[in-house]
Amino acid sequence: MEFISTRNGGGTPFTASDAILKGLCPDGGLFIPREIPRLSPSFTLSKGAWYAMYTAMLPFFEGDELEGDLEEICRSAFSFPVPFHAAGGKDTLELYYGPTAAFKDFGARFLAFSMEKLLEKRNEDITILVATSGDTGGAVASAFHGRKHISVKVLFPEGRVSKRQELQLTGWDGNVSSYEVEGSFDDCQRMVKEAFMDPSLHGLSSANSINLGRLLPQMAYYAYASELYALRYGEKPVIVIPSGNVGNSTGAYWAAAMGAPIRQIVLAANANRPITDYLESGEYRPRASVRTLANAMDVGAPSNIERLFALFPDYDSFRSAVSAYSVSDDEIKATIREVHDESGYVICPHTACGERVRRDHVSSPYSIVVSTAHPAKFSDTVEPLIGEEIAIPRSLYEIMQRPSRAKHIAADYHLLFQ
Ligand SMILES: *Cc1c(COP(=O)(O)O)cnc(C)c1O
Repeated sequence: MEFISTRNGGGTPFTASDAILKGLCPDGGLFIPREIPRLSPSFTLSKGAWYAMYTAMLPFFEGDELEGDLEEICRSAFSFPVPFHAAGGKDTLELYYGPTAAFKDFGARFLAFSMEKLLEKRNEDITILVATSGDTGGAVASAFHGRKHISVKVLFPEGRVSKRQELQLTGWDGNVSSYEVEGSFDDCQRMVKEAFMDPSLHGLSSANSINLGRLLPQMAYYAYASELYALRYGEKPVIVIPSGNVGNSTGAYWAAAMGAPIRQIVLAANANRPITDYLESGEYRPRASVRTLANAMDVGAPSNIERLFALFPDYDSFRSAVSAYSVSDDEIKATIREVHDESGYVICPHTACGERVRRDHVSSPYSIVVSTAHPAKFSDTVEPLIGEEIAIPRSLYEIMQRPSRAKHIAADYHLLFQ
């Protein structure tokens, strides 16, 4: 299996392992498979979620140096449940049972275990730079903490992440450091990009949602979930995905292209509208992000958009494959309350964007809303709306007990290396 750049399809191809270690292509583009493979005949639901995900990923590692290790990596990385909250076909896929209680644990853990294995084989060391608007950094820090051959620098925008998110970023020691940056999430992303372009810095890699190793697990749980759903209901689901950098949703488009039983993919955005505006106007305009209650989706220039453009290169093909709707903060609040009043079910602000979009724009009775985080991560928003306290998952509680060790810096990437 060969991987190429979104920017220069004719260039030298890379293996999956090379793509995972590099993060970003040398030309600044993102890694994509030359051709998206079909689900392999060995794909199976019969041995549980992690094994299904392993078999979904196998075709991407055909002939790769990690092929023989993939089963063990998946067993270690996906060591938690992937349950549905069933509601008569309008189901919710709960992707928040990993250590930091958000879907990013899947990708971050797969990446950490894969990189550690590869670096051990190659006897190399790397430094990982991560810009986070919230949940990425916590998931990456947790996944990489204590892993050999790897040090991690986590950048987050000052005052833009919740207290609880911050506690998940700043308590690490050893091979993980965190930096509180005077600027926005887009500034953090820019600093990472600039560091990569600096020829005097060596051995840098990313663990952001642009890394292929983050993306493949996100493809794999859509293959697993849609197959399981189709088996239960005898129908293909519409999948509604709360989206920001569109890494999670790119995984779903790849799963669909592999032949997973997905009727349609619908993106749910917050008030940040780069994709909804593109669908309406035909002109793609990245811009600064605006703050919302669903702050892990506060993205004005989605980093994975190049991968969607690689799949759907012109406006007409994009418009026929991608639908997206924007949800306001008022609608987020109303939806959290509405869902709780109806059934007692508690959802986070990101998941609420998905549920709002399902209620307003999905006519099929067969749908999955993807629940991207545990509501306890956003208790400041959610608890006043539902009038109840939400218990914090134990693993998250333990992470948040650690004292803060973050360094405060200006938005200049040189300061990361002093
Ligand atoms: C990261 C994140 C999202 C957005 O996912 P993308 O892959 O960036 O589109 C949605 N919800 C939560 C809770 C997240 O942490």
